[in-house]
Amino acid sequence: MKIIEKVEIDTVTDVMCDVCLCSTRVANDGLEFATLQAHWGYGAKHDGERYELHLCESCFFSTVANLKQERRIQNLFSDEFGIEACEQNEKFGLIATDDYFRDDRGSNL
Ligand SMILES: [Zn+2]
Repeated sequence: MKIIEKVEIDTVTDVMCDVCLCSTRVANDGLEFATLQAHWGYGAKHDGERYELHLCESCFFSTVANLKQERRIQNLFSDEFGIEACEQNEKFGLIATDDYFRDDRGSNL
């Protein structure tokens, strides 16, 4: 026997980008965003602090571009930053493509 009652629950109705403050809602009414998070533990300068930032697609790729640039600068005079490292820099953080259903069936890099 099913007992049906109305219950009040909290649910996420939108996610705002923490950088541009825009909604991350896309055309199909879904939410598309990136999450940057950290939970610093014992030994870290920020021990006990937790961070969580949500980024829209545009701000995410701007952030990735900035991180790539920072990596290039920090390794500018490194002998290990050769052609292979440049190729890795192009894929920076990208671990799969064609993973449309988020089931790891896409092409892993
Ligand atoms: Zn944004």
